[in-house]
Amino acid sequence: MNLREQLEHREDRALAPWAMRARDSRGRLGSEPEHAYRTCFQRDRDRVLHSTAFRRLQYKTQVFIHHEGDHFRNRLTHTLEVAQIGRTIARVLGANEDLTEAIVLAHDLGHTPFGHAGERAMHPLLEAFGGFEHNRQSLRIVDWLELRTPEYRGLNLTHETRAGILKHGRAYPRHSHPVEMPSLGASPTAEAQIANWADSIAYGAHDIDDGLRSGLLEPEQLEELELWRRARERAGLSRPLAAVGWRKVIVRLIDGLVGDLVEATARRLEKHAPTSADALCTLPEPVVGLSDEARELTRAQTHMLHECVYRHPQVLRMALKGERILRELWEAYSSQPRLLPRHVLAAASDEPPERAMADYLAGMTDRFAMDEHRRIYDPHTPA
Ligand code: MG
Repeated sequence: MNLREQLEHREDRALAPWAMRARDSRGRLGSEPEHAYRTCFQRDRDRVLHSTAFRRLQYKTQVFIHHEGDHFRNRLTHTLEVAQIGRTIARVLGANEDLTEAIVLAHDLGHTPFGHAGERAMHPLLEAFGGFEHNRQSLRIVDWLELRTPEYRGLNLTHETRAGILKHGRAYPRHSHPVEMPSLGASPTAEAQIANWADSIAYGAHDIDDGLRSGLLEPEQLEELELWRRARERAGLSRPLAAVGWRKVIVRLIDGLVGDLVEATARRLEKHAPTSADALCTLPEPVVGLSDEARELTRAQTHMLHECVYRHPQVLRMALKGERILRELWEAYSSQPRLLPRHVLAAASDEPPERAMADYLAGMTDRFAMDEHRRIYDPHTPA
């Protein structure tokens, strides 16, 4: 047995029966020799981590744009927080930590600059060409746009990581993807489900933290939330809360939700007792998730975030600016394609040039898009 086979053997013994094992992977788009001492999912994770798109996450907006402050989350730090939560959940449940991490690290690669505002601007522009959606764009990046070797395009990830990136519940037109789309079962793998939940637990908590830091939220407002009150009580703190106090409450908030999710998931796993990863994917309902009660409580939290943070005039103003920047860049490139770097149009061999333009725009960081917009539209900025 070589070193990788020893690792796979160890993985097989350590994981729960329903976990996805590296040795059972359906493999990569193009076949490649296996690595000497890393499993296929470790390799997927490493390929994502070393990609150009991953580094660009650093300058992409989560909620607050980077020049609003150095302490707010950007897509990179968001992704790392999701990875931490995802790995915690995967490990305690006996799921595959490497696969979970690979999916999480790739899950936001396809986001445009300026967060969801960018997607709102781009989707209508691409209506005639199949639209724009960030999960599909994440898959497009790992399958096609990243160039890591002269032998093939994309990162050539395993089927399981690709399916986890795509997410369930949406019908994607197959013709709109340059390679075969991963086929999706009735339910995602446990690892993909964990990645999804880790995402929502992470942003729920860190958007409260950033909301408090920015002053868009006040600790007293949060007292309306049952989830918050319980977390504060678990933290052993009383009102009013100082800054260091609410940070401790947020720690308890994450911990409380992760604990609830682990317990509720363990109960569902016990009930359905799937004996393999395949069996888990054919269950009628997803097994990973919060308890019904915690779901209800997080809905109130999400509602408050919408009301006080995502739809705050300060956040909306920046979102509008972002949308306008992308629309105007699109207009400029459409009317004068020579403004685009040569490699952009050269990339669109079999696809409409609009798709290559969309890849270029979506790939931009916030600051690159702002600089480029100034170079094109501001007469005082050197072209
Ligand atoms: Mg995310």
